[in-house]
Amino acid sequence: MIELTYARADSVDDAVRRAADGQGRYLGGGTNLVDLMRETVETPSTLIDVTGLSREIAPTAAGGLMIGAAARNTAVAEHHAVRSGYPMLARAIVAGASAQIRNMATVGGNLLQRTRCSYFYDTEGSRCNKRSPGEGCDAIEGFNRSHAILGASAACVATHPSDMCVALAALDAIVHLSSRSGARTVALCDLHRLPEDRPDVETVLEPGELVTAVQLPASDLAAHSTYRKVRDRSSYAFALVSVAAALEVAGDAIVDARVALGGVAPKPWRARRTEDVLRGRTATEATFLEAADAELAHARPLAGNVFKVELTRRTVAAVLGQLSEGGRR
Ligand SMILES: Cc1cc2nc3c(=O)[nH]c(=O)nc-3n(C[C@H](O)[C@H](O)[C@H](O)COP(=O)(O)OP(=O)(O)OC[C@H]3O[C@@H](n4cnc5c(N)ncnc54)[C@H](O)[C@@H]3O)c2cc1C
Ligand code: SF4
Repeated sequence: MIELTYARADSVDDAVRRAADGQGRYLGGGTNLVDLMRETVETPSTLIDVTGLSREIAPTAAGGLMIGAAARNTAVAEHHAVRSGYPMLARAIVAGASAQIRNMATVGGNLLQRTRCSYFYDTEGSRCNKRSPGEGCDAIEGFNRSHAILGASAACVATHPSDMCVALAALDAIVHLSSRSGARTVALCDLHRLPEDRPDVETVLEPGELVTAVQLPASDLAAHSTYRKVRDRSSYAFALVSVAAALEVAGDAIVDARVALGGVAPKPWRARRTEDVLRGRTATEATFLEAADAELAHARPLAGNVFKVELTRRTVAAVLGQLSEGGRR
């Protein structure tokens, strides 16, 4: 039996004050953290329940949306302004987990869920630099079919598991944070770190820093967007490859594009090289494949996941093809 203190925060200030000693963890829906505690990967002495904080989804003065960090994933996916203005986000959320888990999971918890690398969860028999820095990584020479092809390091090849974050990366979402030093914002694309030689340091958050909200900027482009997830089975499976994309086409010319990838990197992967190739070019399959190749030229697959390079290439081209068919003006 492990002793544990539970506290329910009644305000942002209350939450960050309770987290000040660095011994606690914020508790959202608990769908990831409680599993990690059961496996003794995480052993916090205090759980600070933040589900009573803001879960409001409201328009901003600038025409975007502000989503409270305690909003449940289901509430975000079903919100009319998300479905009409940011369809890739609604689709990404619905592609994740199961209805029961989405009903529990919060936006804050989804952002900060940890990798599903099976060696990371195996505290008894596997070496893992993310869990025990300096110990080694059994995935690199092991079963690495689901691991990263972009952005990994010699210390860690795990992927970030979130579907929602892939859409948020493509949408240029802004994450609002609070700590005892005050409030600040970080672009979603800058929230998660690449592993380099410290895979245990996964985000730019300071100890005890709380996610309070996620802001979606106003975007006409986002209304013409989608999310496609390729996985081994149609539910309860994390992405082998996923693509969040938005495309604006005038005549045959691509005016603007947003592309982010999931299942292939240690963080939600904004495919800026792909976007750079697309802008101003003719919307053809050859252009879409060339754009995917520009990003994948940097891929470093492992023995078990070479297939992901071609799978990503084809999925990017298919999603862009689908958007270009429906999005000409
Ligand atoms: C069987 C199963 C299948 C799944 N499949 C998918 C899938 O296909 N796609 C997918 O994207 N996800 C999937 N998930 C993961 C699921 O989306 C996450 O578990 C969930 O989003 C986490 O949200 P939560 O609120 O429950 O977080 P919690 O488990 O409560 O917390 C997760 C982490 O976030 C931290 N945290 C929580 N709130 C805050 C906050 N406001 N500020 C700072 N830190 C905070 C916690 O301290 C903890 O470290 C699956 C999970 C399960 C169990
Ligand atoms: S890939 Fe990362 S999370 Fe998985 S075993 Fe290696 S160090 Fe641990």
